[in-house]
Amino acid sequence: TAKHTGRDQFRFYAPKMKDRGRELLALETDLRRALEREEFILHYQPQLDLSTNQITTVEALVRWQHAQRGLVSPGDFIPLLEQTGLIIEVGNWILETACKQAQAWWACGYPLRIAVNCSAHQFQQYLLDTVHQLLQKHSLNPACLELEVTESVVMQDVQYATHILEHLKAMGVTLAIDDFGTGYSSLAYLKRFPIHSLKIDHSFVHELSDDSEDAAIAEAIVLLGHSLDLEVVAEGVESEAQARFFQNHQCHRIQGYWIGRPMPAENLFPLIESRNVKRRIVN
Ligand code: C2E
Ligand code: MG
Ligand code: MG
Ligand code: MG
Repeated sequence: TAKHTGRDQFRFYAPKMKDRGRELLALETDLRRALEREEFILHYQPQLDLSTNQITTVEALVRWQHAQRGLVSPGDFIPLLEQTGLIIEVGNWILETACKQAQAWWACGYPLRIAVNCSAHQFQQYLLDTVHQLLQKHSLNPACLELEVTESVVMQDVQYATHILEHLKAMGVTLAIDDFGTGYSSLAYLKRFPIHSLKIDHSFVHELSDDSEDAAIAEAIVLLGHSLDLEVVAEGVESEAQARFFQNHQCHRIQGYWIGRPMPAENLFPLIESRNVKRRIVN
């Protein structure tokens, strides 16, 4: 049961753990249990479309709801899931939960697109089959799913990435490059990859107002998006000044605390109701 989580499960947090193998094994057990006990949850963060002033997309962000530790941030366990290979299983759960949620929103008249982060391992294994099956199972319009991958993931093996991205595109799924500007990507590949959007990393957004270099970089990414016919999403928008900056530069979407924090699905409704004045009924 969820209450039965002993201290021993957190051996991997012990700073002086010497036996790496045992540490990983203990960790794997903890994370596997977390999956069985449904301790992972998804929060959703809205993105505002600046041309329509409507919330069109929400990003699914995973959390570990731990009995003792409370909400654990993905930064603290995603790398561990990657190391143990459990990211495939958890990643599938995330994708499926997000697809179900998107389908539920559609069913009640909110045609929201859901953005889901895709880890390196997921991108390398079974992604096409998984996505294909989930879309069918939940009869979700593929255009409602946006997969986010980082530059490093797609640049690792360009040929393979092109293959995967082409197939996803053929399925109708949209693709975003996450944390854009922090990794290495060749502009030539950016043009060739079938990508739908670029997400400006929040590190260029936070000090935008008083750092002209960050402003120049953010502006350059928006312009790059315009010339390559890609949508640009600014992440980490925390102030009205930052929002106005992106509005003025005709950035397509903004995401950040200024619009809303990542939140449980049910909390999104009031926010969307208040923003999306004209509620469109689809199907
Ligand atoms: P990301 O995909 O770049 O997600 C954006 C992160 O920025 C989220 O952190 C979000 O809570 C945070 N954020 C959003 N708006 C603001 C803002 O205005 N100010 C500030 N300071 N932060 C903001 P979070 O949820 O802790 O996620 C961190 C990273 O963990 C994500 O970065 C993503 O790389 C990874 N991650 C999260 N969920 C998943 C998932 O379901 N699967 C995988 N593979 N990775 C995930
Ligand atoms: Mg993301
Ligand atoms: Mg990001
Ligand atoms: Mg990030």
